[in-house]
Amino acid sequence: MASGRVALVTGGTRGIGAAISKGLQAKGYKVAANYGGNDEAANAFKAETGIPVFKFDVGDYAACEAGIKQIESEVGPIDILVNNAGITRDGAFHKMTFEKWQAVIKTNLDSMFTCTRPLIEGMRSRNFGRIILISSINGQKGQAGQTNYSAAKAGVIGFAKALAQESASKGITVNVIAPGYIATDMVMAVPEDIRNKIISTIPVGRLGEAEEIARAVEYLADDSSGFITGSTLTINGAQYIT
Ligand code: NDP
Repeated sequence: MASGRVALVTGGTRGIGAAISKGLQAKGYKVAANYGGNDEAANAFKAETGIPVFKFDVGDYAACEAGIKQIESEVGPIDILVNNAGITRDGAFHKMTFEKWQAVIKTNLDSMFTCTRPLIEGMRSRNFGRIILISSINGQKGQAGQTNYSAAKAGVIGFAKALAQESASKGITVNVIAPGYIATDMVMAVPEDIRNKIISTIPVGRLGEAEEIARAVEYLADDSSGFITGSTLTINGAQYIT
C-alpha cells in the first residue's frame, strides 16, 4: 500500500528511471523525479506525467543536500529512495583516462552517499524507509571496456549489504536491482552490430523493458516488503545467473 508515501527517483525522467517514476505514481506514491541536465526531456516528462522534476547533479553532495531539502519541503518527507541515475564512459582500461574513471565513480557510486545520507536520518526517525539501488549485470559479472562502470556497480551491492544491516532495526530496507540489458537510450547508443551480439547472448532472446524493472521496484517499495533487505534481485533474461 502506497498511502501517499513520497518517493524520490534519481535519474527519474528518462529510461528506466522514468518507467519507475510512472509505475510508482500509478501505485499512489507522490513521486519526485531528479535529473542531471537534459531539461528538454525533463520538461516533456513533467508535462506528460505531472510529476515534479528537480535538477541536481547526484555526484555533488551540496547540490543533493539542497535538492533533497527542497523536495522534502515541497513534496514531503521521503519514504522511498530509488538511486537510479547512472552513466557510462566506456573504454579499455589501458587507455582509460582518470576523468572517465572519476565521472563514472562519481555519478554511479558517490551518488549512493550523496543521495542517501541527507535523507536517511529522517527515515530512521520515522521508522520507515525503502532504499532501492539500481546496479547492473556488469557489476555482477564484470564487462570488458567497463572497468569503471563494473567497479561502481559492484560497489553499489557492497553498500547495500552494509547499510541494510545498519538500518534493519529502524524499519528501513535496502535492496539492489541488477538489470541486464534494457532498451533505453543508454543501450540504444551501443552500435547496432554490438547490440545484436549482446542480444544473442540473452537466453530470453530480447532486451528487457524499463517497465520490467519498474515492477520490481514497486514490489520492493511496498509497505509489505519489510522482510526483504540486503538482497540483490537479478533481472536479465537469464544472461547471467548468480
Ligand atoms: P538513461 O541514460 O536512459 O537515463 C539516465 C538518467 O539518469 C537520466 O534521467 C539522466 O538525467 C540521469 N542522470 C545521469 N547523470 C546524472 C547526474 N549526474 N545527476 C542526476 N541525474 C543524472 O539510463 P538508463 O535508464 O538506461 O539507466 C538507468 C540506470 O540503470 C543507470 O544507473 C544504469 O547504469 C542502470 N542500468 C541500465 C541498464 C540498461 O541496459 N539500460 C542495464 C543495467 C543497469 P538527464 O536526462 O538530465 O541526462
